[in-house]
Amino acid sequence: MIFLHDRLLHLPRVVSLHSCFSPSTDGHKIQSVSSEPLVQTTASASPVRYADVTKRYDGAQSDAVSHLDLEIPAGEICVMVGPSGCGKTTAMRMANRTVEMTSGDIFIGDRSVRDGDPAILRREIGYVIQQIGLFPHRTIAQNIGTVPKLLGWEKDRIRQRVIKLMDLIGLDPEYADRYPSQLSGGQQQRVGVARALAVDPPVMLMDEPFGAIDPINRSRLQNEFLRLQAEIDKTVLFVTHDVDEALKMGDRIAVMRKGGEVAQYATPTELLMEPADEFVEDFVGADRALKRLALLRVGDIDLWKAPLCQAGDPTEPVKEAVRRAEVPHAVLVDSEQRPMGWLSNRDLEGERVPEVPDSKPNPVLEARWTLRDGLANLLANGSQYAVVVDDNGRLQGVLSVEIISDFLASPEALEIDIPAVDRPHDD
Ligand code: ADP
Ligand code: MG
Repeated sequence: MIFLHDRLLHLPRVVSLHSCFSPSTDGHKIQSVSSEPLVQTTASASPVRYADVTKRYDGAQSDAVSHLDLEIPAGEICVMVGPSGCGKTTAMRMANRTVEMTSGDIFIGDRSVRDGDPAILRREIGYVIQQIGLFPHRTIAQNIGTVPKLLGWEKDRIRQRVIKLMDLIGLDPEYADRYPSQLSGGQQQRVGVARALAVDPPVMLMDEPFGAIDPINRSRLQNEFLRLQAEIDKTVLFVTHDVDEALKMGDRIAVMRKGGEVAQYATPTELLMEPADEFVEDFVGADRALKRLALLRVGDIDLWKAPLCQAGDPTEPVKEAVRRAEVPHAVLVDSEQRPMGWLSNRDLEGERVPEVPDSKPNPVLEARWTLRDGLANLLANGSQYAVVVDDNGRLQGVLSVEIISDFLASPEALEIDIPAVDRPHDD
């Protein structure tokens, strides 16, 4: 039995850059965390638009944010990233009017944030900050229920909502009646997220939300938030000064420099592949090709085909296939298509393919690994080719250093763009 392995098709989660302005309609996404009617909100997510927004603080010599234009599609995570003092927090806080803009306007959906009472606006927009800002003398349940209570919800309804949110953030309900100081920093930060989500706001503002957490827990919280976002589908404005966090969390990233000026507003892929200027190039770092590879899975690109065969197959057709194939070596697979090893010329000298090949299939890469990890494995093993298997250990194709470098030089490298919630995470 000889067959050439089919090339991997691109998976449906790979989206085009140009379809990003409509809210996600993925079937698996639930639109709301609760079946309760939304309070003072109209949708699970709304687009946000900054229109020529400027802020000059009283007495300041220059603008903290100058003529900012930014459009964030509903349901996307927009990360504002840039050096300290460049105006990220100011830009974000004008959206819920905890800082009043000097000129310009910000729209949530088609409504200006200038219309109406800022106190009501703040209840409608989730807000998570680095210092967490939990009320120390209120229990976790009371903290999470702050806004529902302000809105006059019934006690039972608040309690139910709190339990649901605690479940959503993965916090045991037994913590409901504890106080913030009895929780770890990471747990407190989760409560901060739950509190911001309490009335299912169409927009979430997150200002360095994980900045004060140690690196391991930080990575965990980032992953958890991305999993959560896959369900709740909010429009998120996320501020960080850390470019790696921006690349991980952002569907789009606004790289800012002093004065809230946007140096580039683009997807992580575009930033890494085509930085607009030297400032952005420096900011994303010299290892941007590797960072690009970390945003993709091995299975996301076209792998090469190798001739496959099973023990006992006649060798003549295998040798013929090897002469014609992209990968000039045959892989021995078992009846489940699991790779058993590479066949050498010596293996093919007899009439039949042997049971035990000359070389083991090492390294075996998993299709769900990042391309960066795939490359690292190839290099560490000093191998030219590596077999790639799916979650069931079945052969998916063959990866080589050449495929990766060809990919990086191809238009595809710029086209394949995966939403933050669907990218590979390090967990
Ligand atoms: P970032 O969040 O990027 O670190 P900020 O938005 O906090 O930047 O600050 C931008 C600029 O505005 C800085 O120069 C900062 O000193 C100034 N600034 C921030 N808040 C105030 C304030 N309340 N009054 C006066 N100046 C401020
Ligand atoms: Mg800040």
